[in-house]
Amino acid sequence: MTARILDGNALSAKLRGELATQAAELAARGAQPGLAVILVGDNAASAVYVRNKVAACEKAGIRSLKFDYPQDARPAAVLAKIAELNADPAVHGILVQLPLPPQFDEKAVLEAISVDKDVDGFHAENVGRLSQGQPAFFPCTPHGVMKILEYGDIPVTGSDAVVVGRSNIVGKPMAMLLTQAGATVTVCHSKTRDLAAHTRRADILVVAMGRALAIGAEMIKPGATVIDVGMNRFPDGHPKAGKLCGDVDFDAAKAVAGAITPVPGGVGPMTITMLLANTVESARRAAAGGR
Ligand code: NDP
Repeated sequence: MTARILDGNALSAKLRGELATQAAELAARGAQPGLAVILVGDNAASAVYVRNKVAACEKAGIRSLKFDYPQDARPAAVLAKIAELNADPAVHGILVQLPLPPQFDEKAVLEAISVDKDVDGFHAENVGRLSQGQPAFFPCTPHGVMKILEYGDIPVTGSDAVVVGRSNIVGKPMAMLLTQAGATVTVCHSKTRDLAAHTRRADILVVAMGRALAIGAEMIKPGATVIDVGMNRFPDGHPKAGKLCGDVDFDAAKAVAGAITPVPGGVGPMTITMLLANTVESARRAAAGGR
C-alpha cells in the first residue's frame, strides 16, 4: 500500500484564496482585516517565521503591522504597545512571536493581549473556551490539522486518535479539538511507558514530539492516517542530512499508512493559513459588532 498524501500546500492555497476574497469583501465595507506582529530579540528562526506571516498577510489582503524590539527590550515597553494595539479598532489580531528573551514573563505577555484579538489562541480564556467547546480562537497548528482531516475526508467521529506530545501550543489543544470532533483520544509524552503500543492502535496518529524520524513504520497501524507536525533536520550521517524532516520516517511510513502529511508541505503551511483565518474571523466579528 502507498499512502494518500495529504497535501498541506494545495489546501493552504485553496483556503488562502477564499480568505483573500473575504478580506476584500471586508475591506470594501471599510473593515480591512489587520494583524499586528511583535518580534522581540534576535532569534533567527523567529525572524523567518515573522517574515513569512507578514508576507502571507499581504498576499491575502490583510493589513500587517510589524513591531521590532531589541533583545534587551524592557517588558513594560512591549506591554504598552500591546495595550495600544488592544485599543486600536483597525487591528483585529495581535501576535507576539515566541520565544521571548529571558527578562520577559511569556504568560503575562500572552495574557495582556485582548481575548478578542488573540489570533494565536494562546490566551488562557481562549484555551478555557476551547476546552468547554465554546467558540474561541483555536491555536493555529492543531486547527490546521483539523482542516487537513476535514478536507482529506478522514472520519474523526468514533476513531481512536493518538496525539504524541502535550505542549500548550500543539499537543494539548490538538487533543481537545479531536475530542470535540468525537474521537477517543490518547495523549502520549516522554513519560509514556510503551509509546509504540499506543501509536499502533491509532486510526489517526498526530505526532508533535520534535524528534527527527522517531516514528517508524512498525509503530503505525496499517491504513492509519498519520499527521506529522514535527519540524526537524535529517541527522548527520543520513543521506538527506541537513534537510527538513518530520517526527515520522515518511519514506517508511507511507508504505503502511492510509494517508499521511509530508514534511515539508503538510502541517507547516496550514499553521500560517489558520492565523490568516483567525484574523479574518476577528475582523468579521468586529464588523458585526463584537464576539
Ligand atoms: P515541545 O518540545 O513543547 O513538546 C514536545 C512534546 O513531545 C512534549 O510533550 C514531550 O513530552 C513529547 N516528547 C518528546 N520526546 C518524546 C518521546 N521520546 N516520546 C514521547 N513523547 C515525547 O514541542 P512543540 O509541541 O512546540 O512542537 C513539537 C514539534 O512540532 C517540533 O518539531 C516543532 O518544531 C513542531 N512544530 C511545528 C509547527 C508547524 O507549523 N508545523 C508549529 C509548532 C511546532 P514531555 O511533555 O513529557 O516533555
